[in-house]
Amino acid sequence: MRVLKFGGTSVGSAERMQELVHLINDGVPKIVVLSAMSGTTNSLVEIANTLYAKENDAANRLIDALYLKYNDVIKQLYKTSEALNKSKGLLDSHFNYLRAFTMDLFTVNEERAILAQGELLSTTLFHYYLEEKNIDSVLLPALNFMRIDENEEPDMKYIETNIKSELAKYLNKKLFITQGYICRNAFGEIDNLKRGGSDYTATIIGAAIQSDEIQIWTDIDGMHNNDPRIVEKTHPIAELSFDEAAELAYFGAKILHPTCILPAQMRNIPVRLLNTMQPQAKGTVITSKISGDSIKAVAAKDGITAIKIKSGRMLLAYGFLRSVFEIFERYKTPIDMITTSEVAVSLTIDNTKNIDAIKKELKEFCTVEVETDLTIVCIVGSFTAEKQGYALRIFEALKNIPIRMISYGGSENNVSILVDSKLKKDTLIALNKGLF
Ligand code: ADP
Ligand code: ASP
Ligand code: MG
Repeated sequence: MRVLKFGGTSVGSAERMQELVHLINDGVPKIVVLSAMSGTTNSLVEIANTLYAKENDAANRLIDALYLKYNDVIKQLYKTSEALNKSKGLLDSHFNYLRAFTMDLFTVNEERAILAQGELLSTTLFHYYLEEKNIDSVLLPALNFMRIDENEEPDMKYIETNIKSELAKYLNKKLFITQGYICRNAFGEIDNLKRGGSDYTATIIGAAIQSDEIQIWTDIDGMHNNDPRIVEKTHPIAELSFDEAAELAYFGAKILHPTCILPAQMRNIPVRLLNTMQPQAKGTVITSKISGDSIKAVAAKDGITAIKIKSGRMLLAYGFLRSVFEIFERYKTPIDMITTSEVAVSLTIDNTKNIDAIKKELKEFCTVEVETDLTIVCIVGSFTAEKQGYALRIFEALKNIPIRMISYGGSENNVSILVDSKLKKDTLIALNKGLF
């Protein structure tokens, strides 16, 4: 069984949904994971924000505008009045559900329920379209098997058991459609896998059913060597190792959800990145194969905060770093980059929810400086310890960029540097010129 995930633009209009059928209707057994239609999740976030702000009229206007958009989609999507009426009923029930929130108390739980509507709509509309075309398919509700635990990690055991029992209900069926992004949390409430999470749904399902391949279909022909939104003349990379792809995804290559490579890597399942608009293009294949020493790609992650910690007590002492890291652990705050000298440690975080409490605890035994609006630029490839010259090439390319921190040698796949976010574009362009 294969898993194919189609992103927002791949289901972004009636025409795109109609085109999709040609990519999935080949008789090969598959689970198709769909995102919300492009723009929908952003609109739902906006609706939730206005509801938090108790601006009910504004929320209603946004809901009405989104409804009109979907109304146009169904008019173009279906030919029969039967399918059209059924989908009108579907829109009414989802949009009345959205409108009902304007009268009640609004919390994070209501917000998550609102954010789930995009994928529920896209999958059901697509399923109706397949029905209209007499293509046999089963709509699998993701909320019946996708679950995260109390640490917000996928609950793999639960998912494996439950998706298998869902699939077992339809032994002679070959085509399954399900929602990306949405799940239940440890309390059974509706939750999600964070923005871009449909990629993660696909790799989690792929791992749970030990799929032979996971395909991520999007609007570009694979992982490019640099951010195509910022740098001109980027090119697709034919092959990446799991480690390289994981670094790129984690450090900002938007084509993949930050943590979606891990489930595929754990079960050694190839991940293929393909372009819906150009299905013949080779795209990128991600496997356990390590393909030679080279610099493969560059990615950037914004919204980084640096914390600089200094203490005389660090000199010739042991146990100092443990006391520092324990604080971050207590506040469940992951550290991305770290560099040390004999009397100071600098590290970076992107989750600043608990920064005040962290600062307060650190200040009990060291001086602390915090700097915000920084960007990690990550250079990914295979940098084996024996090979020389990579650092020279990277820093030669960056000779005109002021660098705040450098991390080299942490893994064989990654050199990271920290720059002021204002210099992100210049940094990516300089690296493109110097490295590729
Ligand atoms: P989807 O809706 O299909 O999930 P996304 O917008 O999440 O699509 O991801 C695809 C987009 O990621 C591309 O259109 C491209 O602009 C952006 N992107 C950023 N960095 C890269 C990269 N290194 N390679 C390819 N695409 C990238
Ligand atoms: N619809 C969700 C989002 O826009 C999930 C996804 O597209 O992967 O973030
Ligand atoms: Mg995406």
